[in-house]
Amino acid sequence: MSADVTALLYLVSAVLFVLALRGLSSPVTSRQGNFFGMAGMTIAVLTTLALAAPSSATAWILIIAGIGIGGAIGATIARRIPMTAMPQLVAGFHSLVGLAAVMVAAAALYAPAAFGIGAPGAIHGASLVEMSIGVVIGAITFTGSIIAFLKLDGRMSGKPIMLPARHLINIAIAALIVILVIAFVTSESHGLFWTITLLSLLIGVLIIIPIGGADMPVVISMLNSYSGWAAAGIGFTLGNTALIITGALVGASGAILSYIMCKGMNRSFISVILGGFGGETAGPAGGDGEQKPVKLGSAEDAAFLMKNSGKVIIVPGYGMAVAQAQHALREMADVLKENGVEVKYAIHPVAGRMPGHMNVLLAEANVPYDEVFELEDINSEFAQSDVAFVIGANDVTNPAAEDDPSSPIYGMPVLQVWKAGTVMFVKRSLASGYAGIDNPLFYNDNTMMLLGDAKKMAEEIVKGM
Ligand code: NDP
Repeated sequence: MSADVTALLYLVSAVLFVLALRGLSSPVTSRQGNFFGMAGMTIAVLTTLALAAPSSATAWILIIAGIGIGGAIGATIARRIPMTAMPQLVAGFHSLVGLAAVMVAAAALYAPAAFGIGAPGAIHGASLVEMSIGVVIGAITFTGSIIAFLKLDGRMSGKPIMLPARHLINIAIAALIVILVIAFVTSESHGLFWTITLLSLLIGVLIIIPIGGADMPVVISMLNSYSGWAAAGIGFTLGNTALIITGALVGASGAILSYIMCKGMNRSFISVILGGFGGETAGPAGGDGEQKPVKLGSAEDAAFLMKNSGKVIIVPGYGMAVAQAQHALREMADVLKENGVEVKYAIHPVAGRMPGHMNVLLAEANVPYDEVFELEDINSEFAQSDVAFVIGANDVTNPAAEDDPSSPIYGMPVLQVWKAGTVMFVKRSLASGYAGIDNPLFYNDNTMMLLGDAKKMAEEIVKGM
């Protein structure tokens, strides 16, 4: 295939990736966006295969077997994974991108001729620099994503793990990596390459362990960004423009997402990276030891109150995803609307466990987009609503973010549900949310706790109405 045709096909796939990102920016066009992304990737893969068509049959068999086995594993995991486990799946996939970057850099070091970057012992200087950058970012992404996976999957505590003098340790390791990279570029030593890899794997762990539960949204988007830059690094090593463009697109969009998540939590990126916030006492709320009274309600009470309301604002959170309550919830909203009640949904930017989590679930249940509002557009309306129906959400409604400077979420804008006539919390217990902090709203006079599984409760409320 001529270089011109290759460049043109890669350009087409790059344009399709840009269109994919654009499509994914709204639930209305997201399916189309996904389609563009798949088409772009198919063109890119086929072009790459045609470009470097292997001559031996064994090479073809290996490539096809690799695509077949990898594709089958990916498809099976994607089909089986529940929506609630999506964030950790994404973290797991990011780790694989990081690992791939390390592998490609190692392959290029051991077989430079296959990559057209010189001969063993005489690899071009620029290629050694690219290789170093690729391996450092890749290794950090690999172990950082594994720690994020373990935290999100609950296999590791969400609490920050703070090593003494951790900033000093991190700075020392980072400086050492820079020195070793310079030595590696001048010597092409395999030993130095693997030392750089090990130190980068270590720093990946050290960067993520001190970040507490409440800041995990930024970690996810940050690792998303890193995985993009790691892929772009591989693109440079392989001399593949499509991979450089795709990696840069993922890297840049991940960086923008990190910025949006920081804004959503009113935190500076630097303070998140330095870590240490968001993981105080976990466990039941009301943590000062004494048992405070709460007002318990039943599905019938909730049905009666809401049916006789003028306006209800629904606040979904992670528990809705766990219970898969979105369909029952939409049914409840439909019945309310039939009874002349105005219904709106309020979405907090960090609700759930991944960016856009709630939007995806509500779209899946065919909730009309014009009933779904972002925090800044709906917060002023709680004061005029009769009921705030909080279903499986907790941290995103916690007033400690506004009035308790010692709280790990202090400063984060929250949905001001307490301003509604009545606040209903649907959850199974008085336990805290992901950030591990008490929610004083449970004990307010205008709060009604509807204890139970979110889906069951929504179904019973529909029956009650
Ligand atoms: P929270 O984690 O604060 O609260 C969810 C609540 O859902 C829990 O308190 C739990 O209470 C309840 N719950 C769990 N299962 C069920 C069920 N089956 N039925 C009913 N209720 C249930 O969620 P929010 O969405 O309010 O806040 C998100 C939190 O996650 C924030 O702290 C955010 O920083 C963090 N985070 C967000 C990410 C993102 O990108 N969006 C990524 C990573 C973390 P109970 O056990 O009593 O039922």
